[in-house]
Amino acid sequence: MTKLEEPMRMDALIRGGTIVLEQGCVAGSIAIKDGRIAGLLSPEVTVPALETVDVPGCLIMPGLIDPHCHFSEPSLHVRREDFWHGTRAAAAGGVTTVVEMPLNVPPPADEASLTLKLKTAKENAHVDFALWGALIPTSIPNLQHLWELGCVAFKAFMADVDDYQYMTDPLLFEAMREVAKFNGFVGVHAENNDMIDYYSKQLAVAGCNDGGAHAASRPELAELAAIKQAILMGEKTGCRLYVVHISIAEGVREIAQAKARGVKVSVETCPQYLTLTHDDLVRCGPFAKCNPPLRSKENVDRLWQCIREGLVDTIGSDHSPYPDDEREAGVNNIWKAPPGLAGLETMLPLLLDEGVRRGIDWVTLAKLTSGNVARLFNLYPVKGVIQPGTDADLAIIDPNQEWTVDGLLSFSKTKSDRGPYQGRRIRGKVVATLLRGQVIYRDGQIIGEPGYGKLVSRVL
Ligand SMILES: [Zn+2]
Repeated sequence: MTKLEEPMRMDALIRGGTIVLEQGCVAGSIAIKDGRIAGLLSPEVTVPALETVDVPGCLIMPGLIDPHCHFSEPSLHVRREDFWHGTRAAAAGGVTTVVEMPLNVPPPADEASLTLKLKTAKENAHVDFALWGALIPTSIPNLQHLWELGCVAFKAFMADVDDYQYMTDPLLFEAMREVAKFNGFVGVHAENNDMIDYYSKQLAVAGCNDGGAHAASRPELAELAAIKQAILMGEKTGCRLYVVHISIAEGVREIAQAKARGVKVSVETCPQYLTLTHDDLVRCGPFAKCNPPLRSKENVDRLWQCIREGLVDTIGSDHSPYPDDEREAGVNNIWKAPPGLAGLETMLPLLLDEGVRRGIDWVTLAKLTSGNVARLFNLYPVKGVIQPGTDADLAIIDPNQEWTVDGLLSFSKTKSDRGPYQGRRIRGKVVATLLRGQVIYRDGQIIGEPGYGKLVSRVL
């Protein structure tokens, strides 16, 4: 606990909660001055402050840094999620920084398209943001420049996807060689294109068009094969590699082995792979369609075991929702539905609920959703931890409050009551979110303004 200069008036005092530090949880209060954490105080100590917020019984976690969310903006698809709505959903979910990952048109593949995205983000963001650059065949010559402009990583798809060019193996290898030269960071969507292509065509010809067919077309083997391939490229090029949204425990263990022999690879999973199963995909069809697909209950258990063993680096939302009518196209034909789920608002509550039940402590969850992300994306120590000097980005949670997910109350542009979490009972609720000392969300209300969110990057 820090001693503060007595006469100094604080801007805010968050009083009387359980503070989740990296080294453990402590009871106490947080003093905030000029947007930063000025000190951590013992519960009995009080200091003068312009605003005192009492949070007895609450958890105070570092604001989440979501390494993986998609805002479809700028884009031709104007009814999909955008920065304005998406960052409100973030605030409601305790997420104070989003690392936006391109799936929009045009993706940030050169200075002009990056500038376009930055402008939209700056005008509309309610939370802080960093940007992934696009790693597509045509952007390879631009990567170093994009890095110097502030992109914190580059996203490549190893399998075909709408609106975004995927990378063949030789192109990905060449790109990683380039990125290694300036110690950049490459994230891959790891699924083997040939396998998916083969199985999906076979299933479609056989008339298999339901949610189960979607999973069958993208078997665990397709993900594992691509992960091994990406690791091999990381090993040969020395490029820092990040495997996004892993869905299979076997893949996590493959990455752990690679790390152990010195490959610079880290791994992210998502709440949907920890809290939903193949049964949900069958039940909700296109409304639970995502890539990689939802897996078996046994795999979910094994993935939690990987977290327990410390083998997963980060958890991201892969927030990528679509309006209901776009998904409805897949009700009788799963192949016609776009893949992706809403996740920013439910990520932390789901992890608290399911994680605590499975014996994962709050400190571990904070590292997975904030501290580790900040370190990997070079945002640490401004972001990612609660300690004097860091940005006062805080998620305040009532760990005992029970509530029911209703997608119609979502802040997302694509709010829907047909998603796979609809009606789910959850224990643990975000009651307030602070960004750089300002309350931006409280008791169901967005208080922050668009444009308050600012770009964060190692180069600034
Ligand atoms: Zn994604």
